[in-house]
Amino acid sequence: MTGIRIGNGYDIHRLGVDRDLILGGVKIPHRLGLEGHSDADVLTHAIMDALLGALSLGDIGHYFPPTDPQWAGADSLKLLEQVNQLIQAQGWQVSNIDSVVVAEQPKLKPHIEAMRDRLATTLGIAPDQVGVKATTNEKLGPTGREEGIAADIATGPIHGGGRVVGQPWQGAFDNVGDHAAKVEASGADGICADYATEGHAGDPASTSHNGTGWATCD
Ligand code: MG
Repeated sequence: MTGIRIGNGYDIHRLGVDRDLILGGVKIPHRLGLEGHSDADVLTHAIMDALLGALSLGDIGHYFPPTDPQWAGADSLKLLEQVNQLIQAQGWQVSNIDSVVVAEQPKLKPHIEAMRDRLATTLGIAPDQVGVKATTNEKLGPTGREEGIAADIATGPIHGGGRVVGQPWQGAFDNVGDHAAKVEASGADGICADYATEGHAGDPASTSHNGTGWATCD
């Protein structure tokens, strides 16, 4: 299973009183919060839809229906963790996320780095693989009137791959499956490599396509 898949996701939640405002797993001080069955983390919901969409796995309503009491007040990062596990179980890894949050108020800039950190930690990737941008809607429409906050995930590309454990292996290869088998066949513990698409987009464990320079990782 190789290749790069792209997904997109969108979500909007209504703002209301007596609710926390949680975006990307970060609680943000504000006089209003987002309404919803779970914690109503609109950014994390849209990311989940983008990731599921990239593999044509449906949407979050299918996995976490709002009619199911077990998801009442749910921490959306826990749900994202489950979506990530689903993706990984099929041999895929999140490559990067790019997102836009549309909110008239409050100003989100001071919280962006914390959101990137929390999302990256949840997905097991680096913060520089998670882009979070914020914009207002110039007072237009429901987000502009502060009736809600929306999130748009422009891209949720993930690359096929998986994790193999073995000794460093050097030599030319032109088939990631062959390469993975050779690394695995060497049988040693403690050295691992992420194998992915040809070209190794976003692959932290390799330095070149000819198979040299495998790094030790946990
Ligand atoms: Mg939602």
